[in-house]
Amino acid sequence: MEAEAASVNLINALKEVLSENQVTENQTVRELHGRDESYHAVSLPDIVVFPETTQQVSEVVKLANMHKIPMVPFGLGSSLEGHVIPYHHGITIDFSLMNKILEVRENDFLVKVQPGVTRSQLNKELKKYGLFFSVDPGADATLGGMAATNASGTTSVKYGVMRDQVRDLEVVLADGSIIHTGNLAAKSSSGYHLNGLFVGSEGTLGCFTELTLRVYGIPEHVMAARASFPALNHAAEAVVSILQSGVPIARVELVDEPSMKQVNLYSDTSYNEAPTLFLEFHGNDAGLKQDVEFTKEIVAEHNCLDIEFETDNAARNRLWEARHNLAYAYIQGYPGKKLMVTDVCLPISELSGAIHHAREAVDFLGLTGGIVGHVGDGNYHVLLMIDNNNQEEIKRAEQLNEQIVLYALERKGTCTGEHGVGSVNKNIRKKNMGTHCL
Ligand SMILES: Cc1cc2nc3c(=O)[nH]c(=O)nc-3n(C[C@H](O)[C@H](O)[C@H](O)COP(=O)(O)OP(=O)(O)OC[C@H]3O[C@@H](n4cnc5c(N)ncnc54)[C@H](O)[C@@H]3O)c2cc1C
Repeated sequence: MEAEAASVNLINALKEVLSENQVTENQTVRELHGRDESYHAVSLPDIVVFPETTQQVSEVVKLANMHKIPMVPFGLGSSLEGHVIPYHHGITIDFSLMNKILEVRENDFLVKVQPGVTRSQLNKELKKYGLFFSVDPGADATLGGMAATNASGTTSVKYGVMRDQVRDLEVVLADGSIIHTGNLAAKSSSGYHLNGLFVGSEGTLGCFTELTLRVYGIPEHVMAARASFPALNHAAEAVVSILQSGVPIARVELVDEPSMKQVNLYSDTSYNEAPTLFLEFHGNDAGLKQDVEFTKEIVAEHNCLDIEFETDNAARNRLWEARHNLAYAYIQGYPGKKLMVTDVCLPISELSGAIHHAREAVDFLGLTGGIVGHVGDGNYHVLLMIDNNNQEEIKRAEQLNEQIVLYALERKGTCTGEHGVGSVNKNIRKKNMGTHCL
């Protein structure tokens, strides 16, 4: 396959449909496209291409199809389950040059973007219109990659996940044909829900070349808070009570004690090092006051140790930056080790038990790591730092992941709330084929 993919014919044909500098076999570039942000084994593509237009993507796909060469679409490579690692080599299609914001339809609360636009690039532009895009994974990922993994983040508890934001996709299918999966209307009863099918397809159904996405008005008032608890289960149970009470919480994130230590070390903060909920409320002044008072009462009933509100912009930004940087805090805190992240999501009533089970399993297996989560959605992660040269430690970490996944599946949850199937969960599925639906 390697020799075939690298064939002079294919390279020449690619250079005809793209330009000379949009096609490369350069070793360093191939290495950058042979790994993701996690611990998975590296495998290099034979060729990397950088298209600039939908038509160029279509021509590349047609050529790959004709030569029977595998292809991997590539956004930023921030995925965590081995998605972008080309284990069958072939062509990697890097979308970084397709990074234009094509249209802001402020009155329709819609934007049209190319797939290589990153979420922070989009939000910078939207701010000029008093708008924002809600989905915020920890990495500054591309919108194409985020749609392909059905990404979510800290605000999904209020605004929904990537699938809820996509109105239309322009997609290049495997034969090079170009289709649209939706339209600009807020709702439609016309036929199948193709947006739903293509979002989360992880590059298996086609390449997204344009995305039309929902955006929102920046809320009038925003308030953030940190509430710490004596134990993880108190924090998790407080989340269930907050949601049951109907408080329209915009963000609620759980960070366990070891992770709070990492937060303080990395972000130079001095937050209480106890299991903590990071919270955010959006609304008008009067509504916000009520929500905050009600939340204070609820967390007090769950033995909250203390709750601190961040009212000014700078303190609030510091809080969320610290949360978003947590994975990087672990990476920096354990030089030489690699990150492995679990990603199950359960019905909210099962969350407290699941987190307790995970913490016990981490300790029993003697692994290093912490628990964090978008707990308002029932989604949590164990962040593990593992030594890639220690096969025995990798085995224990994989054993932990499998235990956590099976625990979630037995309670009708899913192996992945937001990161996607990739190669890791596919392997668990193979092993447990017929027992569970992932
Ligand atoms: C520190 C850190 C924190 C993270 N936190 C979160 C989080 O909170 N929530 C979350 O959901 N994820 C999180 N992630 C994972 C990651 O950021 C997401 O999976 C993200 O959606 C991947 O985007 P990307 O641009 O990096 O895509 P890539 O990693 O490049 O690709 C991901 C998948 O999308 C496909 N793809 C890419 N572009 C296209 C395209 N144009 N058309 C079709 N398919 C395409 C790829 O083939 C691959 O299957 C985190 C990762 C890191 C490193």
